[in-house]
Amino acid sequence: MQLGPEGALVAGGNAIRGTRVGAGPMGEAERGEAAPRHRVGYWCSQAHETRVAFAADAEIPELWDCPRCGLPAGQDAQSPPPAPRTEPYKTHLAYVRERRSDADGDALLEEALAKLRARRGA
Ligand SMILES: [Zn+2]
Repeated sequence: MQLGPEGALVAGGNAIRGTRVGAGPMGEAERGEAAPRHRVGYWCSQAHETRVAFAADAEIPELWDCPRCGLPAGQDAQSPPPAPRTEPYKTHLAYVRERRSDADGDALLEEALAKLRARRGA
C-alpha cells in the first residue's frame, strides 16, 4: 500500500469540511444582526445627534431624550424641539456651555493664557 502526501491531504481536507467551521451560535448571531432595522436620527436643541436603531416592527417615537444633555430631541435637525422650562436633568458641562457664549469662552481662554505667561515670566 502506497499512500502519498496528496492522499493524506485530501483526507485531511474532508475531515475539516465535515466539522463545518464557522457554523453554530456565532453564525446565528450574525444573522440576528442582519435583521431589518430602522436607524433614526434625533437632534436636540444643543445640536447633539443621537442615532437610535429600532426593530423593523417597532413604533418609532417622535421625540427621544438626548442621552448627552437630557433635552428632548426630534427627527428634524433643522428645527429641534425647544428645551422645556423644567428639564429632566442637566450635566454641569451642559450648564456651563449654556451660560457661556463663545466670546466669553475666548476671553476666559485669553485670561488663562495670560496668567500662564505671567507665571512663566516670573
Ligand atoms: Zn443634547
